[in-house]
Amino acid sequence: VQTQRAFNFNAGPSALPISVLEKAQAELIDFRGTGMSVMELSHRSSTYEEVHNQAINSLKLLLSIPDQYEVLFLQGGASLQFSMIPMNFLQQGKKAGYVMTGSWSEKALSEAKLFGDVFQAASTKEEGSYRSIPKVGDLKFNSDDAYLHLTSNNTIYGTQWTDFPDTGDVPLIADMSSDILSKPIDVNKFALIYAGAQKNLGPSGVTVVIIRKDLLEQANTNIPTMLKYSTHAKNNSLYNTPPTFGIYMLGEVLNWAREIGGLTAIAEQNETKAKLIYDAIDTSNGFYHGHAEPDSRSLMNLTFNLKSKELEKSFLELAKQEGFVGINGHRSIGGCRVSAYNAVPIDACKAFSEFMVEFQKKN
Ligand code: PLP
Repeated sequence: VQTQRAFNFNAGPSALPISVLEKAQAELIDFRGTGMSVMELSHRSSTYEEVHNQAINSLKLLLSIPDQYEVLFLQGGASLQFSMIPMNFLQQGKKAGYVMTGSWSEKALSEAKLFGDVFQAASTKEEGSYRSIPKVGDLKFNSDDAYLHLTSNNTIYGTQWTDFPDTGDVPLIADMSSDILSKPIDVNKFALIYAGAQKNLGPSGVTVVIIRKDLLEQANTNIPTMLKYSTHAKNNSLYNTPPTFGIYMLGEVLNWAREIGGLTAIAEQNETKAKLIYDAIDTSNGFYHGHAEPDSRSLMNLTFNLKSKELEKSFLELAKQEGFVGINGHRSIGGCRVSAYNAVPIDACKAFSEFMVEFQKKN
């Protein structure tokens, strides 16, 4: 039976590769001859441990993570990282800089305020509701700051960083929830990278943290055990029961990413996909207009509006009828948003760009 798959443009949780879902389905009841599902295995069993370590190693290989970094699998979503980062790394007498590029940066900043001194290293809010990414040279921070935090891809506004600042001795921390694994990155530039899994990595429930080991030694100590990065680093993310099924799925998504050619191949596909839709916007003579400035456009979340609210409404309604799922813009900014994460096939983006062209012809 041919399974009917939706054109899934959800912003997160989002599309997963069909081959991964099929493998999980085939292995669901009896995982590798254990007579149990992977989610029924003890997290202390050697069978589970293999799954766990394989996922860590696959991520290290795919992102070329150097040896001086730990890969952690945590819970609480990217949102808990907004608190754990300042709890662990915002020392008394120091300040932490936040680059403001959207709602998620705002949330990260407001959590950090609860723990210490923070400042805005830059913001693109005033110059037109987060349409752009600041120039790397325009960031303001000091060499003795606790850290500098940025959001590499702004899921709601549809903007994405292409080059990252060299921050010298100031640890650079990035929320990569919505573009991790979408292209090669130089992990060496960052002291800490974090991402909720539910876009490019797998199902929700796992948060990936890549942390430079020297940072662990500098962390504050007067915080709860579960909220210390060092607790999880010392225990290979097995201090308590990890989200085992989610980690298994993450490992399978990473295997898939390697099989299809790794991050260079994935980046090429993502560029092709995004171009299909940005071209439909750019050749529409203003019928569609993109929210992001062209040089800040995201390849993951493509945001745009139509000429009027009425047209937007009928566009969204018709798109839904045609089977395109998840293209309503976030409730905070409205309009339309196509999320073209790694597992969204080129054909889905082609079909949607054709739909855009057709809709314009008829209206
Ligand atoms: N940061 C970014 C960039 C996001 O897109 C999201 C969720 O969409 C979050 C943080 C929050 O993630 P979570 O729901 O895992 O807490």
